[in-house]
Amino acid sequence: MFCQRCGNHVSESSAFCSECGAKIQQSNGSLAPQESPNVQQLSLVGFSSRYNHPEILAAAQKNRKTFVGCAWILVFVPLIGFPIAGLLMDDFPLGEAVVVGGVISLVMLAFNLFFLRSVKKPIWDGTVVNQYNKKRYENRVSEESSTTYTEYTTVIKTDAGKKKTIVEKDSRRFMYDYLSVGDRVRFHPMFSTYEKFDKSKDRIIYCNVCAMMNSMNNDRCERCKNLLFK
Ligand SMILES: [Zn+2]
Ligand SMILES: [Zn+2]
Repeated sequence: MFCQRCGNHVSESSAFCSECGAKIQQSNGSLAPQESPNVQQLSLVGFSSRYNHPEILAAAQKNRKTFVGCAWILVFVPLIGFPIAGLLMDDFPLGEAVVVGGVISLVMLAFNLFFLRSVKKPIWDGTVVNQYNKKRYENRVSEESSTTYTEYTTVIKTDAGKKKTIVEKDSRRFMYDYLSVGDRVRFHPMFSTYEKFDKSKDRIIYCNVCAMMNSMNNDRCERCKNLLFK
């Protein structure tokens, strides 16, 4: 059976959830955790245990499969496409086409493997230690069209002592505003998203599956319908 509060799998005999400590109500055969009506009464202080809710794990699996599916296409299309182009086009020698296609597909393969490794990395917790912004110049081909933008950096020190940074640009500045120095944060590699420890003063929450901003009153994300991590 599953914990009513966090969805963690618990044995039939246990009185408390090993993950969140909630009291286990012995249900008479009803499956899966239901949307509990008292979800708003839950404390908004603390990392959510919903990251290992069966629904969230399924969403992570689906994300991964979609990405890997697309990535395999990107590996094989150049491998086959370039030699075909080499055969059909007079000014594109076949030998050259095979090499170019091979190199591109190798790059795609490396990218794919890198992604698979990164999503399997463990969750880490840390504390926001610094936030700063810098004006930057965008390098364009011609100098007249060069533009400036502001880069917003949030620095997190992990509990293991590593330094991680979140770098955002003007229009895609989210975590810079959402997090403040001193905040405890958790990184979820499954979705590459951050979760704040203390959400009790917030009116918004970011979906940890699709990164969409939601009202704190929501229990599920308005866009992807997944459970919000609270
Ligand atoms: Zn639980
Ligand atoms: Zn979402």
